[in-house]
Amino acid sequence: MTDSAVSLFEKLVHVDPPGDVPVLFDTACVIGGSIAGLLAARVLSDRARRVVVIESDDVSAQTGPRPGVPQDQQVHTLLPAGQLWLERWVPGFTKEAQDRGAHLVPGKGATSLDGVPQAPDGEDHRLLTIGRPLLETLIRGRITSLPNVSVLRGRATGLGYRDDAVSAVRYVATAGGDHGDAGAEVLDADFVVDAMGRSSRLSNWLGQGGYDQPGLERLEAPINYATALFERPVDVADLEAPGALALFSPEYPSGGVSVAAANPIEDERWIVMLMGYGDSRPGRTVDEFREACAKLPSVFTTATAGAVIGDVVTYHQAESRRRHFADVGRFPARLVSVGDAVASFNPIYGQGMSSAALHASCLASYLGGSPELGSAAREFFRLQQVVVDAAWAVSAGGDAARLDARDGTDVPEDIARQRWAMEQITAATLLDGDVTRAFNNVSYMLRHPATLADPALLARAVAANEEAATAT
Ligand SMILES: Cc1cc2nc3c(=O)[nH]c(=O)nc-3n(C[C@H](O)[C@H](O)[C@H](O)COP(=O)(O)OP(=O)(O)OC[C@H]3O[C@@H](n4cnc5c(N)ncnc54)[C@H](O)[C@@H]3O)c2cc1C
Repeated sequence: MTDSAVSLFEKLVHVDPPGDVPVLFDTACVIGGSIAGLLAARVLSDRARRVVVIESDDVSAQTGPRPGVPQDQQVHTLLPAGQLWLERWVPGFTKEAQDRGAHLVPGKGATSLDGVPQAPDGEDHRLLTIGRPLLETLIRGRITSLPNVSVLRGRATGLGYRDDAVSAVRYVATAGGDHGDAGAEVLDADFVVDAMGRSSRLSNWLGQGGYDQPGLERLEAPINYATALFERPVDVADLEAPGALALFSPEYPSGGVSVAAANPIEDERWIVMLMGYGDSRPGRTVDEFREACAKLPSVFTTATAGAVIGDVVTYHQAESRRRHFADVGRFPARLVSVGDAVASFNPIYGQGMSSAALHASCLASYLGGSPELGSAAREFFRLQQVVVDAAWAVSAGGDAARLDARDGTDVPEDIARQRWAMEQITAATLLDGDVTRAFNNVSYMLRHPATLADPALLARAVAANEEAATAT
């Protein structure tokens, strides 16, 4: 790598839509019309005469949940970085979301650890709180209104190749229901993006085509989400706490809840989430849900006081996953993969949609660099690896430490030191605003996690923790 990961990350954060640039493709095809696919389509709309998004669900009049995105009824928060990048690709998106009832809640004072609030970080970062279906609907509305972007309703079933490059996508039309693989049709395309999400079939297709499959890395992270919606009779401006993210250490008496979030969203509702690891499945009924919330900071009692809307919706995920495209051997040209299809993390860190937006920046940067389109898009995957490594370091770091502690694994000295340093920094976010700022910039995906390895920052965190220990 010529540039360090930190400076490459900084560059990607600042990739702008390119303006007037040469068209590279006749037809670009994006498989999967959710957040990652739509943002890839936006990037490709500058570079292709037409962009066709193949999506198996009927999204023509989508306003609510849909089967292709099974997580879309769970709480989704858009981190400040994701919001920044979305604004670049879809200008005015935030205002449109707010006009539809979404809220920009201050990060300040929202996060607490074992009931203790973070020290203020001196920044005015805001988190966009919105229902996931509405967020997607708004992005889709804007991107499909581009004159050269269209959605084709169908389930992609494989790829066609010519001269060691992808040249077509096979699909089955699903407009009248999905009738298996009979009657597959073919869309010729000279650039293809896999945005099929966590359960993407791309690896199988590559294997069937005689290409190498990217290595799949899995990290056990058994999470149990329970999310419920409640009526919110009070305007957000009049709330004592307009949102909360509460994190708990395992010893803390929080009824098996490891993470809880309460977000005000559109249509005067609260969306409230409880998450437990392993066997802990907090709040599966409305009564259990309210009971668990009563043991949390008071905003959770406020948020669950109104009438419940619908049922508690649960979601289980066993592991975080990433596919190593940057290392793959024989790979066809004119093909990339983005979003959860490449990496899907433990969702409590809220990185997925922001990562998808940064993958769009990687695509724009790759296409803007006069790519050699006759060979595999290795430069794209190299850039994307920086983004995935950064997000993975944040989410997998905590999960790996939890697993090692559970299994009594002896970890190498350098890992033990990194974990100790992270514990010092996390603890100091309750005490020192400068440490909070550095920590939040990484949590919000605005800066690369390696910025937390700064010795001066660690020294500051240790000093704050020691002072606090002496004072008690
Ligand atoms: C419980 C949970 C909570 C989360 N919370 C947050 C959060 O707070 N903040 C955040 O930023 N992220 C969060 N995420 C992550 C976020 O949901 C994803 O990162 C985001 O949806 C982007 O995913 P994607 O577009 O890559 O894939 P997906 O959203 O999974 O979409 C894949 C799309 O591909 C389509 N598709 C699949 N196969 C085919 C095929 N063969 N042919 C045609 N179409 C196909 C599907 O219908 C779907 O539309 C959370 C995830 C989970 C599981």
